[in-house]
Amino acid sequence: MPTVCLFTRDLRVHDQPVLHAAAEQGDGDVVPLFVVDDEVEGFRVPNRARFLADSLADLDAGLRNAGARLVVRWGDVVEEVRTVAGEVDATAVHVAGDVSAYAGRRREALEKGLGEDGRELVVHDAVVTVVAPGTVTPTSGDHFKIFTPYHRKWAGVETRAPLDPPRGLRLPKGVKAGALPAATDLADGDTAHGLLPGGEKAARARVDDWLDRIDEYGQGQDLPARDGTSRLSPYLHFGCLSPTELARRAGTDSEAAAQFVRQLAWRDFHHQTLAAVPRASTQDYRDRGDRWRRDDEEFAAWAEARTGVPIVDAGMRQLHHEGWMHNRLRLITGSFLTKSLYLDWRLGARHFLGHLVDGDVANNQMNWQWVAGTGTDTRPNRVLNPITQAKRYDPDGDFVRHWVPELAELEGTRIHEPWKHGGNLDYPAPIVDLEQAGSAFRSARGA
Ligand code: FAD
Repeated sequence: MPTVCLFTRDLRVHDQPVLHAAAEQGDGDVVPLFVVDDEVEGFRVPNRARFLADSLADLDAGLRNAGARLVVRWGDVVEEVRTVAGEVDATAVHVAGDVSAYAGRRREALEKGLGEDGRELVVHDAVVTVVAPGTVTPTSGDHFKIFTPYHRKWAGVETRAPLDPPRGLRLPKGVKAGALPAATDLADGDTAHGLLPGGEKAARARVDDWLDRIDEYGQGQDLPARDGTSRLSPYLHFGCLSPTELARRAGTDSEAAAQFVRQLAWRDFHHQTLAAVPRASTQDYRDRGDRWRRDDEEFAAWAEARTGVPIVDAGMRQLHHEGWMHNRLRLITGSFLTKSLYLDWRLGARHFLGHLVDGDVANNQMNWQWVAGTGTDTRPNRVLNPITQAKRYDPDGDFVRHWVPELAELEGTRIHEPWKHGGNLDYPAPIVDLEQAGSAFRSARGA
């Protein structure tokens, strides 16, 4: 009897436990299904829509190599899955476990609906993360609240050997595949110019290249002017790449590789936090009694990269042009919004999700909360001074010079404080006094 493999954000054929199990149970007869669900706002974000369209086309190619093809449906995910499962009289539907509130609702509704139809829902863990949320737990409590002890235990978990792509799949007769969506079918609006191509093939090529230069990670990781990180985040977000396979391939033999794998543990950490506390996608994980200011003009200046603080504006311009921002800049721009301007982290998180090609509820919301000091940072009241940060992490000013060319004539670190150097620059004055803002935040927090 056939089965259905419901793809969500595990768009690959290598190391794909959901597809493997569905194919095994159906003895090769399987419907690989993707539903463009009306409820998923992320499909309507142009940068992610482009990446998703590429990824679905590539997944279809991978499935054709295995003997099947991708079936695409539009509408309510539960209704579409029930219809397709009914058409082929599937015994079971297989899907990856996931952590967002949406994924939780989807799982419950599928369980109920399929149950009414006499079909089983099989949920597979450790598909979107290396280690499934809930696997690594502290001695008391249901999840780790601090990264370091989480990581210690996480590093000791035995992961499965990666699975090869399946062979000998058959699409049950009479199932119409449906057209693969183009990016413009999914979302209106322009995409960033510097977007990477989506899909498993591009992901695997990028990993091969990255593993050849992973030794740069230790020195280059925090310097945004260098291309010193993997830029694998969108591939991990859409599951074009198995995080388990990536962690195993990277290994921990060198310090740089171990440092890289540690970042994958951060990703898992934020997923386990959100899985345990789903309300943290919209509410403070830890209530610090904040009464965020409201200032639409200051928020607009931040969002439109005209704060007058060059490192902040450079980061925001990178976001808009590439649909991606270096981690150090995400920290600096996030801290500036929440701690220098004392504006609500949710505003920043929403703006990021509207542009990031790797925009991901667990990673984005929990990192924003970390930056705002309402999350899992053990030093929640620290304020990143953007000038100190700029001088440390952009020591020659090259990152700012690239993104804020109107300041290019200022040499070296002079570019980070244009207001000190006079001249007639076409660049605004800072919208806030950084020293004063930092102490205002600390006193608002009573720190
Ligand atoms: P690398 O340095 O090459 O790291 C490898 C992988 O590890 C990344 O691809 C990512 O999957 C994971 N990783 C690295 N750093 C972190 C981290 N701090 N937290 C969780 N996972 C991490 N990451 C997202 O994937 N989606 C988001 O929406 C997102 N929003 C963020 C918002 C803020 C305010 C901050 C501070 C960070 C955010 N991050 C997010 C985390 C991090 O900035 C990106 O994962 C990273 O910059 C991606 O680039 P890379 O693939 O080159 O990373």
